[in-house]
Amino acid sequence: MTQINYPYYTSKLLSSVPGLIHGFSTKRMGDMRNRKARKLFLSQLSVRDIFLSMAEQVHGTSITILESLDVVTDTKAVGSDGIVSKAIMKNDTHHVLGVRVADCVPIIAVDPEARVIGVAHAGWKGTIGGISGTLLKSMKKVGAKMDRVLVWVGPHIEKCCYSVSYDRALRFVQAFHGNPTIASKIGATWHVDIGNANVIQLTNMGVRPDNIDMLSACTRCQADDFFSYRRDSKNSFGEMLGVVGFRE
Ligand SMILES: [Zn+2]
Repeated sequence: MTQINYPYYTSKLLSSVPGLIHGFSTKRMGDMRNRKARKLFLSQLSVRDIFLSMAEQVHGTSITILESLDVVTDTKAVGSDGIVSKAIMKNDTHHVLGVRVADCVPIIAVDPEARVIGVAHAGWKGTIGGISGTLLKSMKKVGAKMDRVLVWVGPHIEKCCYSVSYDRALRFVQAFHGNPTIASKIGATWHVDIGNANVIQLTNMGVRPDNIDMLSACTRCQADDFFSYRRDSKNSFGEMLGVVGFRE
């Protein structure tokens, strides 16, 4: 049986880190809520034994710091929307962190020197709650330095398609001091740039702007590549998976 190799997204910025494994699945690899689809994706990252940890993702702002592999064996980080860890390798098993999305903003971060990795799922509630900042604070706790941190902002719904109610727009207007690039009207409807809202939070915490790589792709517009919560029906819906970890 020949295995089909599906292309997946990578970041030019994260590709510069020696020994780092990273990538973002596309719709063609299937719904990453399913174990089988996740296995297929991970098998293409060219490392043999991978152990994947994911957060439960409850649209909150809590981040779990993993101290060792034992803590997370076969469990998800319950009640949180992100995970941080030092590079862990045990019995030749590689440990990667994963974040699942379909319109929400996936944040993938690494301090190559401290070998600290982190992922977070930022929907509108998480963004208003400042989850990107909480992710960075958690990375700091285990040794990351903000001026070394590299961030990949993965595929998410862009401003073109992210129309919101007046109430939700107002929350963004308040949280981002009226910044018109974040919340503004397109025609009669309010739209929010949730990706750049997270970028602002990341740079406010001290991440250098040129250390942030944002994937320019709208999950709702690009139906061939991505699942979209806003676009898909219940039957066609699925989630993509972004992963990060160290190969060696
Ligand atoms: Zn769009």
